[in-house]
Amino acid sequence: MYERIVLRHVRLVTDQLVDLTIDQGIITSIVDANLGHDANLASEVNEVNEVNEVNDANLANEVNEVHTANLVLEGKSTHEVSEKEVTELDIAPLPSQEIYEDERKDSKVKVVQGAGLYVSSGWIDMHVHAFSDLHPYGDEIDEIGVWQGVTTIIDAGSCGADRIAELYHRAGHARTNVLAFLNISKLGLTRIDELTNMEWIDLNRAAEAVQHYAEFIVGLKARISASVVGSNGIEPLIKAKELSHMTGLPLMVHIGSGPPVIEEVLNYLDYRDIVTHYLNGKANNLFDTEGEPLPELGAALKRGVHLDVGHGTASFSFEAAELARLHGIRPRTISTDIYRGNRLQGPVYSLAHVMSKFLYLGYSLSDIIDAVTIHAAQWLHRPELGRIQVGDSANLTLFEVKEEEILLTDSEGVNRIGTSYIQAKGAIIHDTFIEC
Ligand SMILES: [Zn+2]
Repeated sequence: MYERIVLRHVRLVTDQLVDLTIDQGIITSIVDANLGHDANLASEVNEVNEVNEVNDANLANEVNEVHTANLVLEGKSTHEVSEKEVTELDIAPLPSQEIYEDERKDSKVKVVQGAGLYVSSGWIDMHVHAFSDLHPYGDEIDEIGVWQGVTTIIDAGSCGADRIAELYHRAGHARTNVLAFLNISKLGLTRIDELTNMEWIDLNRAAEAVQHYAEFIVGLKARISASVVGSNGIEPLIKAKELSHMTGLPLMVHIGSGPPVIEEVLNYLDYRDIVTHYLNGKANNLFDTEGEPLPELGAALKRGVHLDVGHGTASFSFEAAELARLHGIRPRTISTDIYRGNRLQGPVYSLAHVMSKFLYLGYSLSDIIDAVTIHAAQWLHRPELGRIQVGDSANLTLFEVKEEEILLTDSEGVNRIGTSYIQAKGAIIHDTFIEC
C-alpha cells in the first residue's frame, strides 16, 4: 500500500522518542528523536558526530526534521531514496496527535506525527473468537484484529477438526495475522457443550488437522468447566493431555465452574500449558474462601504453566484481579476472549479496554504492553512478533494513553473508575497502515 511510512517522534514504552521509517513494508531505520542517533545505540560514529553538530548549533525544529530525514536516508539499506523525495518529507511540523496522509498526488508516503503517540510491536490477543458464522462465540477477524490495533489474534478453539480448514482459509483473506488453538472437540463451538459427548473427541482426526495446518495451529483448546463437559468431569482433560503428547502442542485450558474441581484441573497442567480466564470470579476459581491463592496454583506456576486473562463475558472479576495483584500472581498474557456480543455490549469492547483495567489495577504501562507483545511472542516461539527491529517486516501498534476518567465494568457487573486508559490509534502490518 505505502512505499514509505514515517513515524515521527513516537514514544516507546521506555519513554524514548524515536523516528521510525518503513520502506516497502520493512523497518529501515529507528532513530532516537532527541539524540538523533540510532535508537538501538548501535549507531555509527559519523551519525553521532553529525547529531552533535546539529545539537551544538541549537537549531530549530524544522532543521532537526531535515537532519532526521538525512539520517533516515543514511540508514536505508535496500532502497534508494532521491533527494527530491527527502525534501518532500521535510514539511512543517504537524499538529500533535494527528495521523495524516501525505497530500501528494499518488500518496505513496504516509507520515505520522507522533506527539503523544506510543508505538509498540503489534499487539497479540491470545484468546479471541474469530469465526464469524458461530453464535454466540464468533466475530469478524479484522473487527477484533487490526481495526482495534491488534495485529495478531489467536483464535481460542472456535473450531475443531470439522471446520478448522474454513477458519484457515478465511484467515488468508484477512489483514490481521491469525493463528489458532484447535478445539479438542471436533465440533468446536458449533455448540457450547462441545465436550459432553466423548465421541466428539476424535484424537486421530485432531492430530491429522494439527499436521495439516502445522504453521497455523499453535496449541489445543479444552474448555474444562461444568456446562461444557457435563457428566464427563475430568475425562476430556485426560484426552486433551493425550492429544498434547501425540502432537507435541501445549494446551490452553478454559477454567470456570466445577466440577471438575480446579485443583484437579491444575494438577494436569505442565510447562507451557495455558490457564485462560485465570481471574474469573466464580466459586471454583484460583483463590480459596480466605482469598489466598490455591497451593495447586503455586505448584503449577513452578512447573511453567502460563496465566492468561481471557476476560470474556463471564471470566474477569476485579476482586480476583486485586487478590492476584496482592499476591504477585501476574498475567503472563492479557487477552480478551472477544466475540461479537461482548465487543458491542461489553464488558470486553476491545483489547485496549481490557488492558486499561490493568492500568487501573496498578500495573505499569510497560508491563501491560509486554503482556500483549513480548510474552505472547515468546510463548508462540515467534520472537519477531514481539520486537521492533531494523530489517524486520513492520508489525506495529500505535496507541495513546488518555489521562481521562473511564468507567470499567467487570464480568460480575462491578464498576470501577479508572483515571487513564489506553486507546489504539493505528496498526501497521508490512506496508499497510490501518487507522483505528
Ligand atoms: Zn473463549
